[in-house]
Amino acid sequence: MQKVRPIIRVVLVGTEGEINLGFIARLAANFLVDEIYLVSPLVDPFSSEVRRFAAHGEYMVEHFKVVNSLDEALQGVELSACTSARVGQRSDVLRHPVTVREFVERIAPRYNSIAIVFGRESVGLTREELSKCHLLIHIPANPDYPVLNLSHAVSIVLYELWVMRSGSRSIVEPAKPDIYERIYKLLFEIAAKIIDRERLQAVDIALKRILWKCPLTAGEASALYYFAKKLRRIIGEQR
Ligand code: SAH
Repeated sequence: MQKVRPIIRVVLVGTEGEINLGFIARLAANFLVDEIYLVSPLVDPFSSEVRRFAAHGEYMVEHFKVVNSLDEALQGVELSACTSARVGQRSDVLRHPVTVREFVERIAPRYNSIAIVFGRESVGLTREELSKCHLLIHIPANPDYPVLNLSHAVSIVLYELWVMRSGSRSIVEPAKPDIYERIYKLLFEIAAKIIDRERLQAVDIALKRILWKCPLTAGEASALYYFAKKLRRIIGEQR
């Protein structure tokens, strides 16, 4: 199969419908998805019904990788983004998303490999699952009924990624993906020292989300890293 950058991995958590699985295999062929990981599916992903709905994407069914945990499904990718129809209130930072359009325009082009995580048809993703991903993506729709069918949500995200992958790249050297993790670790260490326990989780999620949302240039990232290192040293000395 032809490779187009970035590598796209679709991760489906606890999928309940064979028709959806088949349609998603077909979409994966339509939009050149590289990998499909299934975390504990509730149906047989290799059934004849799945294959029937996959149509000419049946070869993607052969490539399904079935795993037991989301952690396993996220291994080896630079960026992970989960998806949800639900947007949180002001204080619920775990559910503060970027729109799918923002994601493909500002964030995704900086990465070589991306996992997009989709939830169960019945209940979506748990808060624990949402917290494992760097970012949350939302497809804006009718606020009174924003919940799309699983395979329809997958199609919109994959289409947007497809448009991006056939489009442009940034002109200033972008920050390398690993520096985000290094900056985040430093900032988290600082936060853990100075923030009250009950607020730490929200601050942690906010730090993660803010960082991965930002298209930093290489120069900006190294300045921020330097600043965070200094700050950690000063705070370490004071305590
Ligand atoms: N009742 C569930 C709906 C799950 S829909 C809930 O309230 O969360 C199944 C999956 O489709 C979701 O977990 C998500 O991955 C995706 N999805 C559906 N609508 C979406 C939207 N508007 N934006 C982003 N993802 C969506």
